[in-house]
Formats: sequence, C-alpha cells, structure tokens
Amino acid sequence: MKTIIVGGVAGGMSAATRLRRLDETAEIIVFERGHYVSFANCGLPYYVGGVITDRSNLLLQTPESLASRFRLDVRVDHEVTAIDRAAKTVTVRRTQTGAETTETYDRLVLAAGATARTGITPAGLATRTLRTVDDVDHITALLAGVTGQASAVVIGAGFIGLEAVENLVHRGVHVTLVEFGSQVFGPFDAEMAAPIFDELLVRGVDVRLNTTVAAAADGGVELSDGSVVPADLVIDSVGVVPDTSLAALAGITIGASGGIAVDGSQQTNDPAIYAVGDGVEKIDAIDDSGILITMAGLANRHGRAAADSIAGEPGTASPALGTAILGIFGLTAAMVGWSEKRLVQRGRAHRVVHTHPASHATYYPGAETMSMKLLVDPATDAILGAQIVGGSGVDKRIDILATAMTGGLTASALTRLELAYAPQYSSAKDPINQLGYVADNLAAGTTRALQWHELAAARAAGAVLVDVRSAAEFQSGSIPGAINVPLDELRDRLAELPDAPLIVHCQVGQRGHTAARILSQIGLDVRNLDGGYRTWTAGVTSLGLMNVSAAKSERISA
Ligand SMILES: Cc1cc2nc3c(=O)[nH]c(=O)nc-3n(C[C@H](O)[C@H](O)[C@H](O)COP(=O)(O)OP(=O)(O)OC[C@H]3O[C@@H](n4cnc5c(N)ncnc54)[C@H](O)[C@@H]3O)c2cc1C
Repeated sequence: MKTIIVGGVAGGMSAATRLRRLDETAEIIVFERGHYVSFANCGLPYYVGGVITDRSNLLLQTPESLASRFRLDVRVDHEVTAIDRAAKTVTVRRTQTGAETTETYDRLVLAAGATARTGITPAGLATRTLRTVDDVDHITALLAGVTGQASAVVIGAGFIGLEAVENLVHRGVHVTLVEFGSQVFGPFDAEMAAPIFDELLVRGVDVRLNTTVAAAADGGVELSDGSVVPADLVIDSVGVVPDTSLAALAGITIGASGGIAVDGSQQTNDPAIYAVGDGVEKIDAIDDSGILITMAGLANRHGRAAADSIAGEPGTASPALGTAILGIFGLTAAMVGWSEKRLVQRGRAHRVVHTHPASHATYYPGAETMSMKLLVDPATDAILGAQIVGGSGVDKRIDILATAMTGGLTASALTRLELAYAPQYSSAKDPINQLGYVADNLAAGTTRALQWHELAAARAAGAVLVDVRSAAEFQSGSIPGAINVPLDELRDRLAELPDAPLIVHCQVGQRGHTAARILSQIGLDVRNLDGGYRTWTAGVTSLGLMNVSAAKSERISA
C-alpha cells in the first residue's frame, strides 16, 4: 500500500507517523512545499517576542529524523500541483527548480492546511502574515533593522493577532491593533472579552475598534477613520480560509462551510482520498452542522483517524467542540462550544450563568479571580458552551468543561464532580462545582436570574434594583439608581423595599442569590442579577467600546 500525504506539518505528519506505527510495510511519501516539516507553528509568535530564543527549537523534526525513526520519505520544497483521480497520480513540482514529476498512490491524504484570507487589507500595502518560519525570519530581521523604537500595526484581534501583539510589545515594539469588529477576541462574548481589552490598554497598545486599514501612508498606514499610525511592520492576521485548491480542482466535494467535506473517518467523496486539518470541514458537536475550526489538536486527532482508516482500523474522528485557549499579557482566555452570540444568531434557546470565583482558597496566597460563563440548554440541561478569563486555573477549568461536554454531562451534574482540593489548588467547592450549583438552582427554579443586558428593560418596566453589597462597596461604585440595602441588614429593613418587582445584585452574584432566597421565601417577586456588578460593568463597558475613543480614556483613568 502506497500512501501519499500532501502537507508535512500538524495533520499530515500525525497521519504519516500513526500510519507507520500501524503498518511497518507501508510506503509513505510526504510532500511539503515549504522548506520545513513538522515545525512548531503555534510557537512562532513566541520566537518573534524573544520568549523562544533558539530558532532550532521551532524545527521539531527534519526529513532525516523522520526517515530514521519512522522510515518516512519526506520531501520538502515539493509542491503537489494536481491530482488525477482516475489514474491515481499526483503531479509534483520542485519549488526550487520547477521540475515536475508524477507519483502514483493507493491512498492520498490532503493535509494542506489553510491560507491567509485575502481581499480585506488594501492591495499595495506591504503586509506580512505570521504563519511560517519564513514569516518570523522576515519579521525579526525587519525589526532588528529599525533604529529606535519600532512600530507595528497588527490587523485583526483574533487568536494570532493578539499573540502577535503580546510578543511585539514584549520585544519593545509600539503596537497599534486594528480591528474591524466592535470588540477584541471575537470568539468570546463581548462582556467576557472586556478584561482583554483593558489589559491591552494597560500595556500601551493603541487599540482601534470598528476600524480597518485603508491605505499605505508615509511612515505608516492610514486607517478608515482617517488617522495615520506609524508602522515599520504591518502584520496581517485577519484570519484564514481552508486551502481547498487541490481538492476543488480534482472535483472533491467541498462542504457548505468552505472546507473539504469528509466522513467520520476523514474520507472524502473519493474513497482513495482522505483529508485532515485546517482545510477540512469539521462536524460541530453541538448541532452536527459543518463548521470550520482551525486548531492543532483537531488536525492531530483527525490525522490519526485517517491513518487508522487507511490501515484498515477505521474509527470515528468524533465531532469538534472548538476548545481553544489564548494567553495574553498574563491573562488566560479559554472557551469551548458555542458562544452566546452564536446561540442568539442561530435562534437557539439558552440559559446563561456568570460566576467570578477565586482560582483557589482565598486565604492561601496567590489566589486570582476568574470570570466564568456557562451556556446551558434550558430544555435538556446540556452544556452548550463556556468561556473563562482570568489568571491561574483557567486552563484546568476549561478542560474540565470540555471533558464534561465530551462525556455528555449536564450542567447540574457539575455539582457532583469530585475534584482535587487543597487550598493552593482549589476550593472545597471548586469553581466548576460552583458553576454547577448556580446552573442547578436556575434549572430547579430555586432562583431566578436576569442578565446584564436585560437590566435596563426590566427597570423601564418598573423593576427596582437593590444593591445588597456593603455600604463601602456601594460608595466605591454602583449601578446608577440602585438602592443599597446590605445583605446582613436585609431581614431588618424589608419595610424599606418598594412594592414592585425587585432585582437584587451584589459584586459577583453570590450574596445576591442569598438575598433573592430571603425575599422569594416571603413571597416577593425577585430576580438576581447574574454575575453581579462585575459582569454588569464588563457588559456595559463592552457596549461602550463601540465608541472606543471616549471609553478608552474613561477606562484608563478608572
Ligand atoms: C502562528 C500560529 C499560532 C497557532 N497557535 C495555535 C495554538 O496555540 N493552538 C492551536 O490549537 N492551534 C494553533 N494554531 C493553528 C494550528 O497550527 C493549525 O490548526 C494546524 O497547524 C493545522 O494543521 P494542518 O496540518 O491542517 O495545516 P498546517 O500545519 O498549516 O500544515 C499544512 C502544510 O501543508 C503545506 N502545503 C499546502 N499545500 C501544499 C501542496 N500543494 N503541496 C505540498 N505541501 C503543501 C503547507 O506548506 C503547510 O506546511 C496556530 C497557527 C499559527 C499559524
């Protein structure tokens, strides 16, 4: 059996090495059009930032090391330019000489990845992507040649754009971040992304929301608002699209999402051809629709599944949850499943829970607050998605939630997870258990909640807002128009409460829940503001960011 693999990085190399482990006799040829195979593309931004100092650490394998350990025939600087499905051959061009050859296959694996999205940045503007070893060589050489402080414009505030920003700042570069949307980190809901925006400002990044790059200008670039910002370097990180060029030319079916359509064992509509990685349409674990998710874990998992299938041991690649994590200036932002905005877009019913627990017992030094958001199907109690932003412990909690979703646990079942506890690691009620308790209370009707964006309408309809935090907390910042009745005085001051529907709130939602229980048990109509003052502040500020210039100065001074 002769297998040809197109693309020698995450998906392609996973398929190649797994296939070798399953079949010692297989003939396996990997064609990679670039000069490097199996390089650490996820590490590239950190080389730019000087965090990874040794360039050779990015180059995980070479054709020689792959030949000696896995007996793979890896050919770099070889581009596959066409597939003849009837003859089962590929045309291969040597990128350095242009010489073309033809190679036969029994099985073909397409692992060509994604390409940078084009047509957004203006033609004629010199930009660089941050996707390959050549890119980082170019960027580091360019920055090394600048006298004085270098300036960069990063276009796009998604995963790669934000990683680029962090590393450029780390390197001492002045950065302008230009984002077309009204928030940074678009995969997150706006209120969850607010801490990232704050952190960018604190680090001196000039963030321009609702803005695009219009044209090249003298010494920099002109933005769509007419301003000109300095730029020795412009990094284009507006996103990627699946590289389906080879597949499409060969008549392989492309899914509605734009990625190559595959079945559960990564097989395309041609039984001899498999496809894996960023170029492929994934099956969404929430609704089984076709979706594009460009993450390394999926490329590896699906590469392995393709190899299993080729070796005659077909498994199922299993649907994708889109679990992802970002580190930005010491903050960690992580997500799994669907966001609230996506649920709204799809018209799917959902319940929302916000909590702000400490990473571990607060009496033990070093605890950090994280903000968590859980999205739940109100009919089935299934977990539809989660987002977490904070410091330590975020990565662990998102992975627990991803595991819970994979295992089909309900939101209420999070209360029953028996998680490791000692004060330096967690609390006796882990943040995951706490999330479950809130979800369980809502599911059982023990408490009723109101979301930050529903508050204005509820008050306009006659509800009264009661802040149950201490007087000192109230003094240091409150929601305009709220009355303050601290929780510990609530039972004695019931007479002060107006005869109207009540909305109670505290700092993060916990005291508000206790207050809501006190008031509902005496028959009052009461709801707890979910996530408390902290979520409300993040939410309204994120709305304010649509007028970013005004919001920016307020937030910095606050
Ligand atoms: C800067 C950066 C940081 C990232 N960080 C993370 C992260 O932290 N976490 C995460 O999960 N994901 C991250 N990713 C995404 C992750 O790297 C990709 O999801 C993953 O590499 C996809 O694997 P792939 O095999 O589909 O494509 P790739 O790894 O991109 O490999 C495709 C290869 O195919 C080659 N190729 C294309 N066409 C041909 C052809 N016709 N002939 C021969 N060769 C061809 C290309 O040259 C390329 O080397 C990051 C990506 C980048 C660029």
